[in-house]
Amino acid sequence: MMERCIALSMEAAESRELPFACVVCREGEVVAEAINRVVRDSDVTRHAEILAISEAQRLLGRRDLSDCTIYSNVEPCPMCAFPIRETRIGRVVYAISSPMMGGLSKWNVLGDNEISNVMPEVFGDRPEVTAGVSYREAAAVWRKWNPIFWLGIRLRGCLADPAEDTAMSVLQVRQSDRRPLRPFMSWISNAVARILARAPARKGSPAAARD
Ligand SMILES: [Zn+2]
Repeated sequence: MMERCIALSMEAAESRELPFACVVCREGEVVAEAINRVVRDSDVTRHAEILAISEAQRLLGRRDLSDCTIYSNVEPCPMCAFPIRETRIGRVVYAISSPMMGGLSKWNVLGDNEISNVMPEVFGDRPEVTAGVSYREAAAVWRKWNPIFWLGIRLRGCLADPAEDTAMSVLQVRQSDRRPLRPFMSWISNAVARILARAPARKGSPAAARD
C-alpha cells in the first residue's frame, strides 16, 4: 500500500500539486485515496489525509475507521492527526518524518494518551505507528519533483528520514546559529513561492479522493 501511496505522490507532483498522498485501507483493500489539493484549491486545509479519511467515512457509511490503516508518504500533520484519532484509525504508516510539522514527532497528537483517557467518547486509543516505510522511494519523488526545494527542506530539518532523527536534531540545533545560511534559506523560500505561483488556476470540482 505504501507503494501505491508513493505512486500517488508522484502523480501529485506531476500535476503541480505538493507531493503529498494518502491511502486508507481495510482488510488489505484500498477504501479511499487522495492527493493534496492545497495548491489547486488555494485552500490550506485540503490535505491528502483529510480528503481520504472523509471519503473513507462516506464510502463505509460510518465515522469509526478502527479497522482501517492509513498510509501517508509524509508523517501526518496535527490537523490530520486529530481526525485520525477521532475516527479511531488503528494503524498509521508513513515514509518521511516531519520534525517541524508532524503530528507525532513535533506535536504528539498521534501518540497522546491523555486525550483518549479523558475523552474516550471522542478519541480512540493511540494508533500503532510505523515510520520510515519505503523512505528512499518516497524521498526520491520529492527530490525528482524539485531537487533544490528538497535540499532546502532537508537542510532546515522540515522533512527527514526517521532513521536519522538524531542526526537531524543535531543539524537543527546547529542551524539555529547559522546566520550565513539565512540568505540561502530566503532564496529557497522565494523559489518555492515561485513554484507554487505557477500552479494551475483553481478548478470547479473538489473531487479528490478516488476509489
Ligand atoms: Zn495534514
